[in-house]
Amino acid sequence: MGLAVGDALGLPAEGLTAARQKRLFGTLSSHRLFLGRGMVSDDTEHACMTVLAYLEACKDGHGNGHGDVQKFARALGKQLKHWFLLLPPGVGMATARACIRLLLGFSQARSGVFSAGNGPAMRAPVLGALDLDLEGIIQFNRASTRVTHSDPKAEWGALAIALATRHLARAQTPVFFPAYLAELTPHLPLEAQDFETLLEQVRSSLERSESLANFTSRVSGPNGISGYILHTVPACLHAAFSHPDDYPQAIQNIIACGGDTDTTAAIVGGLVGARVGKAGIPQPWLAGLMDFPRDVRYLEALANASPRTKPIFWWPVQLFRNLFLLFVILFHGFRRMFPPY
Ligand SMILES: [Mg+2]
Repeated sequence: MGLAVGDALGLPAEGLTAARQKRLFGTLSSHRLFLGRGMVSDDTEHACMTVLAYLEACKDGHGNGHGDVQKFARALGKQLKHWFLLLPPGVGMATARACIRLLLGFSQARSGVFSAGNGPAMRAPVLGALDLDLEGIIQFNRASTRVTHSDPKAEWGALAIALATRHLARAQTPVFFPAYLAELTPHLPLEAQDFETLLEQVRSSLERSESLANFTSRVSGPNGISGYILHTVPACLHAAFSHPDDYPQAIQNIIACGGDTDTTAAIVGGLVGARVGKAGIPQPWLAGLMDFPRDVRYLEALANASPRTKPIFWWPVQLFRNLFLLFVILFHGFRRMFPPY
């Protein structure tokens, strides 16, 4: 729910610079996608598919918090194929190519394309929120990443998010970024040195109480946070660890940075949401999420699901909904051609 609400709040501003976003929307503190309501994008759909694939992996004797990783990868590949056939309006380039490869008959072991986009990071918060041990998270994250992305950077970035979710859900107040880093770095390979340098920059920036806006413009440049996983992940960690107990503030700060706002806010929403729970999400933000079939009730049912009782919906509903969202997104694209610039 934390991830979905962040996704929906960030979606209207996707791709805008911080300055243009401010002129068009002011502070994004309420849903602005369609008549004051919010809808979710691929980020939430990926998170839901990850949970469904995990439930599939826990069937047949794998029900003790440790599903079968192979089964998980197969189920995720299948979910992605069905999802892609229903024409999702927002889909990353690498994920689209991986879905086409899956549809052409590539196995989920060979479907991933060499890219360090954000797809795996969208699926990472829910993995970190599962009742898995560290080794389990590493295995499932690797499988989740490789279905769509084969660049190891994508796996490191997603692992950083999954372990941060786990850390934030469990750590006592005050949350301490170096304690999280000490958990993560032993699981990063030697080649991940550049990534570790970025994480060090997050640490020193937090230590100096530098603003998120300053930090991201240093790391990602002035046009907002890009969809490159090594831009997105440090920014999201910075946002979440700056306000680990304040969901609305963390979300507003990351959206205000501009760029890939639906994904960055979704990840931050997943990170902080795992800590504060449903009660920490402002009630109007939950009530304003008017999507279907993935509404708040569905998300709640999914969170409480077991391998035998999964929430389902009829696929034509999803197709109709995707066409509607496409129409809304086109309207936003058209609106952006007009002032204020
Ligand atoms: Mg998205």
